[in-house]
Amino acid sequence: MSVLVWVEQEAGAVKDATLSAVTAATQLGEVHLLVAGSGVAGVAEAAAKIAGVAKVVVLDDAAFEHALAENVAPAVVALMGGHDAFVAPATSNGKNIAPRVAALLDVMQVSDILSVESADTFTRPIYAGNAIATVQSSDAKKVITVRGTAFEKAAREGGSAAIEAASGADAGLSSFVGAEIAKSERPELTSARVIVSGGRALGSEEQFHAVIDPLADKLGAGVGASRAAVDAGYAPNDYQVGQTGKIVAPDVYVAVGISGAIQHLAGMKDSKTIVAINKDEDAPIFQVADIGLVGDLFQIVPELTGKL
Ligand SMILES: Cc1cc2nc3c(=O)[nH]c(=O)nc-3n(C[C@H](O)[C@H](O)[C@H](O)COP(=O)(O)OP(=O)(O)OC[C@H]3O[C@@H](n4cnc5c(N)ncnc54)[C@H](O)[C@@H]3O)c2cc1C
Repeated sequence: MSVLVWVEQEAGAVKDATLSAVTAATQLGEVHLLVAGSGVAGVAEAAAKIAGVAKVVVLDDAAFEHALAENVAPAVVALMGGHDAFVAPATSNGKNIAPRVAALLDVMQVSDILSVESADTFTRPIYAGNAIATVQSSDAKKVITVRGTAFEKAAREGGSAAIEAASGADAGLSSFVGAEIAKSERPELTSARVIVSGGRALGSEEQFHAVIDPLADKLGAGVGASRAAVDAGYAPNDYQVGQTGKIVAPDVYVAVGISGAIQHLAGMKDSKTIVAINKDEDAPIFQVADIGLVGDLFQIVPELTGKL
């Protein structure tokens, strides 16, 4: 079985989510990577070094510069004659490309897999992660997105794959207008080892930053938020952790003034150690917490930050 994995890249580097997708793909068969972009020779070389990769296919064309799904999907489909499965990380871009590939191939997509049970059988979360479904696909070509936190990252070094050029064209369906990318000195949420997240209890944007940021600074942590905090404008959208936000699994997740609604837990309950700070000892967050502090966050967090 040969598997084509779409490589997500940023600033000339292969993103971590791709490495998890590679690990999933190696459990299916021979792994070929697709690097699509403009001026991506360096990315292709980096991709060829990833352990377990047999071949790197490169689509180097201005049409692929911004990973527009309308251009990438037909290019993937053109390569699927020689592949049995297409795998993408379950990131915003991966989730934009893979369903189009599935539709063009007229197959069912298996989304957000947590494990590969066999060549056609996978597990995936349902009901906001409250149950795990085992799904079997009878489609001849599989289209799969991979939950990054569920698979170890393939090693960036150790492979020596062949690099092969392919061609593709602008589908003429969309054009790139612009991107507003949030800039932050902090670690990116999906790859941060430590995350400090704030909830509605912070009460205002000013208090959110005054309480959460110093603790995150001390811990070298990424900053997250509940949807309630985001909706109230205390934190930007890209901070949101949960079912409709980012799925994270850091070594340490500190939930400050977050109740622990299932939609929030869906995004962070696989964190290795969960620390919860909440004044309500019955808050559901304590059911998943390894360490719980019951009390007023406005007192506890500055005290904790001061002692670190
Ligand atoms: C379809 C759908 C998708 C959703 N997706 C997401 C998602 O992706 N992410 C997400 O987070 N939510 C999501 N939600 C919303 C979710 O249901 C909750 O409403 C939200 O998570 C609540 O956020 P919160 O815990 O910050 O607020 P609250 O539930 O209001 O909890 C605030 C907590 O702070 C505590 N507290 C108050 N004051 C203090 C203090 N001084 N010191 C210490 N503790 C204090 C309270 O005891 C309480 O437990 C979704 C909902 C739906 C319907």
